[in-house]
Amino acid sequence: MPQPRFIVTTEKQLRQQVSEWRLAGKTIGFVPTMGALHAGHLSLITKAKKHADKIIASIYINPTQFAEGEDLGSYPRTEKKDAKMLQVAGCDLVYIPKGSLYGEHHATSLHVGGAALGLETDYRPHFFGGVALIVTKLLNRVQPDIAVFGEKDYQQLLTIRRITSDLDIPVKIIGAPIMREKDGLAMSSRNQYFDQEGRAIAGHLNRIMRACAKEIKAGADIKHATDTAIEALLSAGFSSVDYVSVADAKTLKILPHSLDKNQARLLIAATCKGVRLIDNCKI
Ligand code: AMP
Repeated sequence: MPQPRFIVTTEKQLRQQVSEWRLAGKTIGFVPTMGALHAGHLSLITKAKKHADKIIASIYINPTQFAEGEDLGSYPRTEKKDAKMLQVAGCDLVYIPKGSLYGEHHATSLHVGGAALGLETDYRPHFFGGVALIVTKLLNRVQPDIAVFGEKDYQQLLTIRRITSDLDIPVKIIGAPIMREKDGLAMSSRNQYFDQEGRAIAGHLNRIMRACAKEIKAGADIKHATDTAIEALLSAGFSSVDYVSVADAKTLKILPHSLDKNQARLLIAATCKGVRLIDNCKI
């Protein structure tokens, strides 16, 4: 019996392996990534393994979610190392598509409303259209039973839940908690862009976010607490703050003043030394 390969690069190879597993009665879990993997990504594999028999990860730097002037060209590419890490983490197959996933005549776009509106969309209007396309395409190719996405990209997680529900894609979307560095900075492939000074400033984000969430939970006015957090970020050395917002944890409707009975989430996007960071936490 030939050994199944660990890395596949074509849709045909991918579908063939998936159908073999299906025939053997296995369930399939899927973890899409853009590579440059860290422990946060690997935690998604661990989570997926709790919910499915065979785990497939993908590595694809999706051009449609980058705008002109963003870091598509310089996004870190470490495929060999990534594949090794995935294997050690217990992943069963890595799909690294060769070339573009968008055909020459590709002409379809997706527009998502609801949780995709506001926050990231106010600053990166192209982003969720690009995410919607690639996630839909990958889910259609892999056809997994479950797919795991990180709460690190909280608005993305809710948006993907919306898309799969609205488009009847038969997959269960599972969220996974944010993995952090020792100082609380959320792990991210883009953290490697930082020099030492930038990295030290970035470490303040989590502390300021936690303090803000605590204040709001204790009953502080949301506008006052978020304004204080913005000031604290700027004083810590962040060059700009796109948003510090409190939103309903399910709909992402902004809660401007008080929590009411809502389950709330604090979401932040801020830039430090040219690197834009996003983070969030439960309130
Ligand atoms: P990316 O490679 O940045 O597109 O991320 C791939 C997946 O990993 C997404 O579902 C992210 O939300 C998730 N992810 C990224 N960073 C973290 C982290 N620090 N903790 C948990 N999941 C993460």
